[in-house]
Amino acid sequence: MTTSHPAVTDPSVDHALQLIVTGESTGSSCAPELADGPWLLDAPTVAPGYGPGASQADPLPLATPRQQVLPETYRTATETELHERIRAAKETLGEKVVILGHFYQRDEVVQHADFVGDSFQLARAAKGRPEAEAIVFCGVHFMAETADLLSTDEQAVILPNLAAGCSMADMADLDSVEDCWEQLEEIYGTDPDDQGRAPVIPVTYMNSSAALKGFVGRHGGIVCTSSNAAAVLEWAFERGQRVLFFPDQHLGRNTAKAMGIPLEQMPLWNPNRALGGNTREELEDAKVLLWHGFCSVHKRFTVEQIDKARREYPDVHVVVHPESPMPVVDAADSSGSTDFIVKAIQAAPAGSTFAIGTEINLVQRLAAQYPQHTIFCLDPVICPCSTMYRIHPSYLAWVLEELVDGRVVNQISVSSDVADPARVALERMLAVVPTQSAAQSAVTQGATK
Ligand code: SF4
Repeated sequence: MTTSHPAVTDPSVDHALQLIVTGESTGSSCAPELADGPWLLDAPTVAPGYGPGASQADPLPLATPRQQVLPETYRTATETELHERIRAAKETLGEKVVILGHFYQRDEVVQHADFVGDSFQLARAAKGRPEAEAIVFCGVHFMAETADLLSTDEQAVILPNLAAGCSMADMADLDSVEDCWEQLEEIYGTDPDDQGRAPVIPVTYMNSSAALKGFVGRHGGIVCTSSNAAAVLEWAFERGQRVLFFPDQHLGRNTAKAMGIPLEQMPLWNPNRALGGNTREELEDAKVLLWHGFCSVHKRFTVEQIDKARREYPDVHVVVHPESPMPVVDAADSSGSTDFIVKAIQAAPAGSTFAIGTEINLVQRLAAQYPQHTIFCLDPVICPCSTMYRIHPSYLAWVLEELVDGRVVNQISVSSDVADPARVALERMLAVVPTQSAAQSAVTQGATK
């Protein structure tokens, strides 16, 4: 049988992109401009800014740091030179620095990380290194904020490129959520029912600004990750009649559906329309209000891609991240967090075939790490997370060499008025013990169908 997925030996998405733009590969990319240095996209006039604990749409204090122009020595250095400079700086700094690399980071950055994982695993890993004075977080802005929330006051969290945000996190800003909350209070009131349950419990996905984690902390709400969303929703329903879930509609819908909540009781809240674009009756009947947010990477996965994978590989196991649209999750064999996907591959017998619906850097790395399996991305077009891609070895070398010279640049520091309630919301999440039915929902999502 002819298939379109040859074995992967080079995990580098960047190398694949370079071959595409030079015409040496027949592959295609949704964003060939990513083959350029990110500094070309980070000109001061267009570089997004992130305030302390803010999403991109929040008003930023004047003193908010902006990404400065990367010195030429880093922009023109070769890949080999950058790797040598990073290694040398890291050696000089020793225990004083810890480098965290998200699963979706480019391979050229991940190879220098002390820990590789998802955003929450990394924030906790940083907590386990209190001796490190600097935490260099190779991920996106909300992840560095979370690391700052969980680290000590003496530790500086550094984001190598301040333009590295998350387009999904930016889809919910504090003003819009507060405006939504006021409208919901007007409809539902503020009094608990006769079982003591609040009218609405706000739940924010980890992929949100610290400002929104603070919002849920102040309003009796909680944070969730893609690993514990079912248990967190159960926690919320013990305390509330309904849930406002932001920013990712897909994680909210996929999780609530697996728990048996009907789709007609999950209206979408569009922040640009009165009542989120719903009627009063629809909202009165709602169980989960889903914010109109999504991940631009995971929304590219389609049922047609799954059908094609099944035609080419009849034994394929299709596993997708729950940020994917509901029809894709329904058509897959299993769905779960990045950690779930990695563990599924680790546990599979040699010779297994996986079609994966998550970010391409992780998929390529897994394909190279587990040559005993056939592993490929559902989406044949190379389409990395473009904001995560803003972290380049040039920026990593720069922040490390600045540290060697005694300077902390690009520090992410969440102010205490935001950090204190945000920590409350995170601590509530950490205290959640999954009930049997939540564990069952997670297993249903995670198990082979
Ligand atoms: S992959 Fe999606 S959710 Fe993750 S950082 Fe990129 S845009 Fe945000």
